Amino acid sequence: MRVEIDSQSGFCFGVVGAISKAEARIAANGARDERAVADDDGVGVPGEMSGATEEVAGVPDRAERLVSLGDIVHNGAEVARLEALGLETVPEQTDLATLAGRTVLIRAHGEPPATYAMAARHGITLVDATCPVVARLQRTAREAGADMKRVGGQVAIFGRRGHAEVRGLAGQVEAGMNSVDGGAGAGRAAVAGFGSKAGGAIVVEGEADLDEIDFSRPIYFMAQTTGSLAEFRRLSEAIQGRATNPAAVTVRDTVCRQVAGREEHLVEFAKRHDAVVFVAGGKSSNGRVLFEAVGAANPRSHKIESASELRPEWFEGCGSVGVCGATSTPKWLMEEVARKIMKAESNRKFIFRLPRRILSWMSEA
Ligand code: SF4
Repeated sequence: MRVEIDSQSGFCFGVVGAISKAEARIAANGARDERAVADDDGVGVPGEMSGATEEVAGVPDRAERLVSLGDIVHNGAEVARLEALGLETVPEQTDLATLAGRTVLIRAHGEPPATYAMAARHGITLVDATCPVVARLQRTAREAGADMKRVGGQVAIFGRRGHAEVRGLAGQVEAGMNSVDGGAGAGRAAVAGFGSKAGGAIVVEGEADLDEIDFSRPIYFMAQTTGSLAEFRRLSEAIQGRATNPAAVTVRDTVCRQVAGREEHLVEFAKRHDAVVFVAGGKSSNGRVLFEAVGAANPRSHKIESASELRPEWFEGCGSVGVCGATSTPKWLMEEVARKIMKAESNRKFIFRLPRRILSWMSEA
């Protein structure tokens, strides 16, 4: 049986950049700790310290640790790897006052302006790892908000309500422009759109949310970068169809091609194999979109988060198995999954080749 890992699956450059920034900061914190300990005991030779001291040098004190506001990437295994190095993850909705004086990482998804303002208020040092594409889109949302305000229009964003990137985009639009607003002076949770509020933009997850839009007014429609391109196009047509004046509808396709291009590629990849294993974290919206496409292309597709979920019966009678994943799936995890599939296959072949009397002895034992 042949096992192929999809060469185009894995981290997009936005996630690679965020992880590199986190690793660099963690390494810098570790180095600072080593120096501090060396000064204390007067030795100053890394590797020659006592066991207790080495432990401190390996993972910095809590106050020194880099804090990620939410998972740095929607993949539990990669988060665990970084946490073992010294990253601390706190829930996205954490009150920034509790992190006063600490160093906080802003993930590739970005954050709304309210987060930056509150960080400054609480003396927080930010390591801003917002993906450059997302940062550009935030500017677009801000400009669209200003334009729509001038003409009495609305900004609508196709994306998942409460998703960090959507909160970051919606937060650029002045609250109060639409029926759903953040409320001036509200806490970070409201301004950032953790609950039903979403800055000044209307968040459209699907057809039902279009009812939030006032079709008699101008509309600016854009998308979360990891949204489905097909769904965005379908909703755009629905908006134009319902608008009193279709000429007053601006559709801006902002789906990231790092994701959109992968859907077509993965469909081809899935069709080429007898069975497909798609590796992605449960919280990855990109993973959900891509797996839908993979599952439609190959009914023998299975979505897993770790190699421990593999089932041998998935590969019965298979000549080839494809292993692929989302933009948040680390390469090392797909390699681990592929190795386990191949190991199970070679064990199966080994048992199959054993003489019948040994096999019957094994089943009796
Ligand atoms: S999917 Fe695109 S926009 Fe989103 S983080 Fe990755 S590279 Fe950036």
